[in-house]
Amino acid sequence: MDDSTGKLLHAVHFSASKHRDQRRKDQPRSPYINHPIRVAEILWTVGAVRDEATLLAAILHDVIEDTQTTPAEIQTEFGEIVLRLVLEVTDDKDLPKQQRKRRQIEHAPHLSHPAQLIRLADKISNLHDLLYSPPQRWSLQRRQDYVRWTEKVVAGLRGASPAMEQNYDHLLKEGKQILQIE
Ligand code: NDP
Ligand code: ZN
Repeated sequence: MDDSTGKLLHAVHFSASKHRDQRRKDQPRSPYINHPIRVAEILWTVGAVRDEATLLAAILHDVIEDTQTTPAEIQTEFGEIVLRLVLEVTDDKDLPKQQRKRRQIEHAPHLSHPAQLIRLADKISNLHDLLYSPPQRWSLQRRQDYVRWTEKVVAGLRGASPAMEQNYDHLLKEGKQILQIE
């Protein structure tokens, strides 16, 4: 075990405590922390990512967007490089939702490489959840729209990680069958 293990455990604890009152949108209302942990695991297992800052930022990728956590806290606890990555994958919540969705598509090709990797793992995790533990009461139309949106974001991330793209493409194919998308 080395120092990285300690930092990763600290990030998991920090993120779990920040997301403690939040649940996923699935029927059992799973603990929110399952998702950022899964994103980091996808990076490790599918993307073969070993960069410490990328894995830490994956664990922390939704804390600024979804909790009261400030950028200063992330900087103090995990440093400037991790903070910058988290900010790169944080949507601006002051913008209307449709605009935020559009910006993710437009920004994808311009993100740094580590941020692209996090974005891709995030899309794999969310597409998987959408198909196999879907948000409650979403219509077929809304699920179809979500899948098409992930496809547009991922189009701007192509080349970042062939292994993760292949994983996404496989899931997308399953998703199109399940949701009857042409
Ligand atoms: P949201 O952005 O509201 O929800 C999807 C997000 O929720 C995911 O990106 C993920 O984000 C998080 N999430 C939590 N639990 C799950 C889960 N079990 N499965 C998948 N994702 C989960 O959804 P939309 O993208 O559909 O919203 C786009 C816009 O469309 C909004 O403005 C919405 O109000 C509007 N809308 C569209 C309808 C339609 O029929 N198309 C109907 C009603 C509204 P994270 O990684 O950040 O946790
Ligand atoms: Zn996420």
